[in-house]
Amino acid sequence: MSKKGKIPEPEKNLKFIDVHCHLPFHRPKNDQLPTDKEQYLSYFKMGGLFLITSTIDMQTLDLTLDFMKKFNKNFGFTCGWAPQTVTYTPKNKYSLEWKKWINYIQNNLDKYLGIGEIGLDFHHAKILEKRNKQVEEFRKIIELTRDLDKPYILHVRNAAEHEFDRQHPKHRFNKKDGANKEILNILKEYNIEPKRVMWHCFSGPLEYGRTIPNQGFILSVPSSAYGFERWRKVSKFSPLESLVTETDSYYQHPFKRGPLNVPSNVRYSIAAIAYSHNVSQELVSEKTIENAKKFFNLEII
Ligand SMILES: [Zn+2]
Repeated sequence: MSKKGKIPEPEKNLKFIDVHCHLPFHRPKNDQLPTDKEQYLSYFKMGGLFLITSTIDMQTLDLTLDFMKKFNKNFGFTCGWAPQTVTYTPKNKYSLEWKKWINYIQNNLDKYLGIGEIGLDFHHAKILEKRNKQVEEFRKIIELTRDLDKPYILHVRNAAEHEFDRQHPKHRFNKKDGANKEILNILKEYNIEPKRVMWHCFSGPLEYGRTIPNQGFILSVPSSAYGFERWRKVSKFSPLESLVTETDSYYQHPFKRGPLNVPSNVRYSIAAIAYSHNVSQELVSEKTIENAKKFFNLEII
């Protein structure tokens, strides 16, 4: 349920960084959103210092590179091969697209800020075969990029109870932290330092909000944490030193459902964290900016 009104609105004059949005993106026709250019311009006008967009496949990478021919000041992107890309790319296109993608990330190190979103999504992959394929591709990405000295941006979604794979009821993926555990094991196996890894749109389960930051991982709090308690409570006990802010726009609107979000709404993530941690919005703004700059090695001009 939306709870707009319960939490103080974002304060005016806040500074902010959205570390993960999707701009530009293939959007539904006739959506209600301002144009990409308008979203970009109003973000900086309202107090944005730097904006990071996340690509998920070759198509979104091409869109982003095109957009950046005109708009690139304090704007950066990460190169992702999302678990949804693994699951939904048609078989006849997959290997060619993949080759283009891996070739881009290995040969354009100075162009992008990080590798992601990559990860596991057991909501979009409901049967074991598809889940195993996501694991296989995730491993491949880590293996091929571990020496590139780039941070990782994870998309991790565990299976909800009704999404457990009935054919394999005892399988480890059918746990409320099945995807989390798999990811943690793989990162360990490849000796990936936790401080190099950000969990985008961190979704729990609850206890991971404490244990993951303890290991040095960074968690990103979405703008929807403002109006939806389930997004807010998972980072309630995470130290400010481990948190950054994102919109995941056009998803994760602060208090509405549907693909309606814009990057300047990242102010609502700040308001949500200030509320859950009982500190000032100004402090959250300062800390999350500092964390984002450090994590992505950002140069703001
Ligand atoms: Zn995303």
